[in-house]
Amino acid sequence: MPIIGKRSHLISRRNLAVISTGLIAASTVSRRALAVESADVIVIGAGLAGLSAALNLEAQGFKVIVLEAANYVGGRTKTLDLSVGPTNTGGQTVGPYYARLRDFITRLKVPLVPVPRRIAMGNYVNGSLMPSSAWAKSKANKTNDAERGIQPDALEFFYMSKSNPLSDPASWTEAAYSKYDVPLDRYLRDLGASAEALRLIDISINARSLASCSALGYLRDIKLLQWGINNSDTKNRSTYQAGSDAGYEYNEIAGGTQRLPEAMAKALKGDLFLNRAAGSIEMSKSGVEVTTIDGHRYKAKYAVSAVPFSALKNIDVNPGFAGPQADAVLHSSHGNTVRVFMEFTSAFWESDIGEPSLFTDTAIERVFARVSEASEIYALDCWVNGNAANRLDQLPTDVVGEFVISELARIRPSTKGRLKVLKVHSWAKHSASGCCRHVFDAGQVAPWAGVMATPHGRLHLAGEQTRSMENGMEAAATSGERVALEILERES
Ligand SMILES: Cc1cc2nc3c(=O)[nH]c(=O)nc-3n(C[C@H](O)[C@H](O)[C@H](O)COP(=O)(O)OP(=O)(O)OC[C@H]3O[C@@H](n4cnc5c(N)ncnc54)[C@H](O)[C@@H]3O)c2cc1C
Repeated sequence: MPIIGKRSHLISRRNLAVISTGLIAASTVSRRALAVESADVIVIGAGLAGLSAALNLEAQGFKVIVLEAANYVGGRTKTLDLSVGPTNTGGQTVGPYYARLRDFITRLKVPLVPVPRRIAMGNYVNGSLMPSSAWAKSKANKTNDAERGIQPDALEFFYMSKSNPLSDPASWTEAAYSKYDVPLDRYLRDLGASAEALRLIDISINARSLASCSALGYLRDIKLLQWGINNSDTKNRSTYQAGSDAGYEYNEIAGGTQRLPEAMAKALKGDLFLNRAAGSIEMSKSGVEVTTIDGHRYKAKYAVSAVPFSALKNIDVNPGFAGPQADAVLHSSHGNTVRVFMEFTSAFWESDIGEPSLFTDTAIERVFARVSEASEIYALDCWVNGNAANRLDQLPTDVVGEFVISELARIRPSTKGRLKVLKVHSWAKHSASGCCRHVFDAGQVAPWAGVMATPHGRLHLAGEQTRSMENGMEAAATSGERVALEILERES
């Protein structure tokens, strides 16, 4: 039996760089001919959650095999090598409270850099292009009196941090707060948000839509961000800018976020297979068998699912999930993000509003100027969230890039002929994860928050969606530690 799978898909500490195109060859190998490999734990998914689980388990003496569907490690921390330099398509900012992530970063000697300087964002709203300084008095600003002085991109954080009712980031599951498990637009309307503010917040919100998303789930995320800043509800801040001006340590990983999961994969003792998508998980009283879609079989005492529910629902799990947990796995909502990276031939912003970044109320939502450590603007990043991203996904990928360029030429003529698409990346369309992030829809916190992370027989559940209060990459790293402890406890 040729060991095509082993030789071509295997990443181990001996050979991190071997990534292959051997999937087609592997799929022609008879299923019965493939030997079953054994370990103590099979980890499905080599994002930060899966790698954290694997390293924590190995530290406790378990033999681990990691299966990854993609041809790279790191999942939603993928870094592209573009002509303008390493470019993160997903996770980027390492927050001040990222204890587990920072621990891996320190132990693996992955270099950090400070978050680059933030720059003001111009606006294109209601047909008018203007610098941020003109927004408050502009006729195109149709928000109410309390909102007029808040930049469109900052309205979300202004309202979500204003009177955030949660006592602390971990309190969101307490019964007293279940009254906030309502559509976010209703919550904001009750706080006094105008219809125009709601329309603008729907553009920046990192969820499917304001109408679908649970206010309670979102308040949890915002409370954690508020934790790190002073007077959080009194300033013009976009949500993901929160904290960077408060003296807390916000960082990025030098050379791109993916350098961290790569270092974690390299530190593994056991085998990590790329291009190996788990297709089924069979559980018995004594163990699990995971079969990949190309017929490789892996036996172990336990399995860890470290994939988002948007991917787990595609895996046949037997016996299947039951009750509210089955509902959560099958029907959880996942926000999408589409990003279009562009380079420019000259500083077009100098000939119009002076600010290269732009908030728009068009189908292309927001454009961020990318700033280097040396404070140079070197690329543009069109960032589209939620339903607007799903709408773009209906177009062929190459058309999306051209669409963004032509929309920009229409609303901002100074960009005409000066932009070139470097890459289009949709998290729903171009990744095995199938999403940007998990978001609770209204009414889902009460039935599902308590079961998202509950082990299902011998299958333990990790991944960002199982978080209690951490955000993003730290949530993933923490979930990996949690499942390792769960398994350790069962074995002791
Ligand atoms: C645009 C964007 C910006 C972000 N910005 C930030 C930020 O600034 N700071 C921050 O902290 N977080 C940020 N995040 C969030 C952060 O990147 C994620 O929360 C985190 O990386 C998720 O890790 P994970 O391991 O849970 O999931 P993933 O990274 O999705 O890992 C799951 C892995 O499982 C694999 N997989 C899927 N199905 C299968 C299968 N059947 N078999 C085997 N493998 C499978 C996938 O390929 C993937 O590698 C951002 C995310 C996005 C998309």
